[in-house]
Amino acid sequence: MRQSIRERSVFLRIAPHLIHPLPFLFPTYGHGLRGKELFSLALFIHDLIGFDRNQGLNHKNFLRSSHLISKEEFRRLVPGIDDEGLTGAALCYDAQMLNPERLLMSLAQSADQAGAHLANYVKITGFLGSGDEVQGVIARDVLSDEKLEIQAHLVINASGPWANRVLNLNQDPKVAPVTSFGRAFNILIKRQLVPNYALGVHSRGKYKDCQAIIQKGSRLFIITPCHQGSLIGTAHLPLGPERPHNGVTEAEIMGFVDELNKGFPAGAIRPSDIAWVYWGIQPTPNLDEEMAQFSKRYEIKDHEYEQGIKGLISVIGVKFTEARHVAEKVVNLVFKKFRKTPTSSLTASTPVYGGKIDDVEGFMNEEARRQSNRLSEEMIRSLITKYGAAYPGVLFCLDEVRRAWPSLPLTQAVRLAEVMYGVREEGAQKLTDAVFRRMTIDFTQSPPEKDFLELCAVCMSKEMGWDGNKERNELREVEEIIQSRISPLT
Ligand SMILES: Cc1cc2nc3c(=O)[nH]c(=O)nc-3n(C[C@H](O)[C@H](O)[C@H](O)COP(=O)(O)OP(=O)(O)OC[C@H]3O[C@@H](n4cnc5c(N)ncnc54)[C@H](O)[C@@H]3O)c2cc1C
Repeated sequence: MRQSIRERSVFLRIAPHLIHPLPFLFPTYGHGLRGKELFSLALFIHDLIGFDRNQGLNHKNFLRSSHLISKEEFRRLVPGIDDEGLTGAALCYDAQMLNPERLLMSLAQSADQAGAHLANYVKITGFLGSGDEVQGVIARDVLSDEKLEIQAHLVINASGPWANRVLNLNQDPKVAPVTSFGRAFNILIKRQLVPNYALGVHSRGKYKDCQAIIQKGSRLFIITPCHQGSLIGTAHLPLGPERPHNGVTEAEIMGFVDELNKGFPAGAIRPSDIAWVYWGIQPTPNLDEEMAQFSKRYEIKDHEYEQGIKGLISVIGVKFTEARHVAEKVVNLVFKKFRKTPTSSLTASTPVYGGKIDDVEGFMNEEARRQSNRLSEEMIRSLITKYGAAYPGVLFCLDEVRRAWPSLPLTQAVRLAEVMYGVREEGAQKLTDAVFRRMTIDFTQSPPEKDFLELCAVCMSKEMGWDGNKERNELREVEEIIQSRISPLT
């Protein structure tokens, strides 16, 4: 708990434009495991352990003390909540990362500035070295099909769900799988079920948490406000012998919605409410068909120590929010392996690329005033929320876009500028990179129009020097992703 609280404060400090405080509500019932008495103790311990959580934060980002609220107050915040046995709610403060893609990008850019060599679309296909010693990797540039050999004293396998597949490339029978994996998904719905607050809701079905000390007997879902809608999750599923093309089946999504509606009938979620399904593969220690659960602990495996294979470490991270801490530990291990004293890490105090902003709200107001003859306040706010202090780079591209497409509405021109910036400054190689992982799309609104996506393809094509065929294929890929995520349920 201490570590999570610390890392939450770190992210609020180093990426203040991308992370913000969010109040969480947990309804209390009766006097047992979900009663006010136990919650009161848990909140006290949480605040005590995180006594220094606001150190170094701008006061606008302070995480206030947790407390209990009355039944009446809770009903006012969450109308329609199940009243039976309700005694009130626990109110505590956490943080929200609305745009993980942009955070990842700014972390990559920070690494680039610090001297790292970044390469996307490079796939490891084998290891250099022989027998018990890894001396680098064999890789393939996926876009050009060029083969590469990269010498290294040490290889860190941080390939997430692909970790075992990468290890298998070593073809050493001693290399054991690092962990087992399962599927997980969140649903994004178009309506805000609870504005301004995140809400914890318990399922009605039986549930056993194989990693918990105290069994609560039910599954906890968190409903968070997300752009104009709500993000709800997380559902965990076994991998299954045949993984569906879209990651999760319609039946699995509807099973989750059904469970959710029983736990929170006021939400009354219908299939047509679902805007997007985020799914992925996560470490899952319990592969029970009924109740797969994701691992709550990260793993750092030194294969020299465990299997006598030199020069190879595997890292299985389970949470984005803990990634900085895990990376610090891995780097310290690398120093230790080379018999050197680790230098103290600066990542907990160095702002990410674009994150050197003390007061985000003040910065937004100031920039909106300064740029008022170019863009609306809403546009400036949206750009700062994504790019932080680095947003003028997008404005620079905007000037070019406006020269090339003078009659384009300003909102679309800004988005095209983001595509251009994504290619020039952020390594976007494919249209899917630019659309989904650079400019990012708010799927709680209607999906982007075909005409607009065509324009994005034309803009990217000009930047990349694609021919018409390549441009059409790239566009088709984007359209297929949008269709595959949305169409099964609408
Ligand atoms: C539905 C869902 C909800 C989640 N919610 C949260 C949350 O609320 N909070 C939180 O902190 N975390 C959350 N997570 C977990 C978080 O997403 C993961 O912990 C995190 O993405 C793991 O990061 P990673 O870098 O270890 O793996 P990944 O992000 O999967 O990255 C692995 C990378 O390795 C690359 N790779 C694979 N094979 C090769 C190869 N052969 N050569 C080169 N590269 C390769 C892949 O392309 C990929 O880019 C959630 C996950 C899911 C699925």
